[in-house]
Amino acid sequence: MDFKENTHMPKRTLMEKIATEIKACRKCDLWKQRQNAVSGEGCLDALVMFIGEAPGYHEDVKGQPFVGAAGKLLDELLSGIGLSRKEVFIGNVLKCRPPKNRDPLMKEIKTCTPYLDQQINIVKPKIIVTLGRHSTGYIFSKVGLKSEGITKLRGKVYEIKLFGSQISLIPMYHPAAVLYNVAYKEGLERDFQLLKSKLEKLPN
Ligand code: URA
Repeated sequence: MDFKENTHMPKRTLMEKIATEIKACRKCDLWKQRQNAVSGEGCLDALVMFIGEAPGYHEDVKGQPFVGAAGKLLDELLSGIGLSRKEVFIGNVLKCRPPKNRDPLMKEIKTCTPYLDQQINIVKPKIIVTLGRHSTGYIFSKVGLKSEGITKLRGKVYEIKLFGSQISLIPMYHPAAVLYNVAYKEGLERDFQLLKSKLEKLPN
C-alpha cells in the first residue's frame, strides 16, 4: 500500500465532502445568481494557504478560484518565488460570487466562513496569506487582533494561534487592487519575498 496515498486519503475525503456541501449550499442568497460555487483548490498538505475575498466573474464561470486577471497575477507572483499553484491551497472567504463583485456582507461572511474554517483545519497550513482587507479582517477578528486598513497591516508577519496551531499570518494587498493601481505592485512583490524567506525558515 502506498503510505503517502493512504495518509492523504482522509484529507481528500473530507475536502470533497465540504466541496459537495458548498455546491449545494443555500444558506444565503448568493446561490440564486451563481453559475458555480467555488470551494477552493490546491495541495491538501500545503505549507501556505492563500485566502482571497470571493469569486469574480471568471471564477463563477469555471468554479475555480483566481482564474481571471487577478489569478494570472497571483500565478506570476507564485512562480517568482519558485512556487506553483499545485503546491499551495487557494480559498476564499465567500464561496459564491456577490452580484457585480460587490463587497461581501457581514451576514454572508458569518454564514460562509465555517466552510473556510473547516478547510484551514484540514490543510493545517504553517503560513496563511490573506489577500485584501476582507480575508485579513476575518482572520484578525478570529484571533482577537484589531484589524486596520490593509496598507497598515501588510509587510509584516503576525504569529498567531488559530485552531490550536501556530500559524504565520502574512496579510497582503489583493492582486486585483494592483490591477487597479499599479503603485501597489512593488509592495505586493516585496510581500511575496517576505513569504519566500518565511518559507525558507520553516523547520523541515
Ligand atoms: N478574487 C478573489 O478574491 N478570489 C477569487 O477567487 C478571484 C478573485
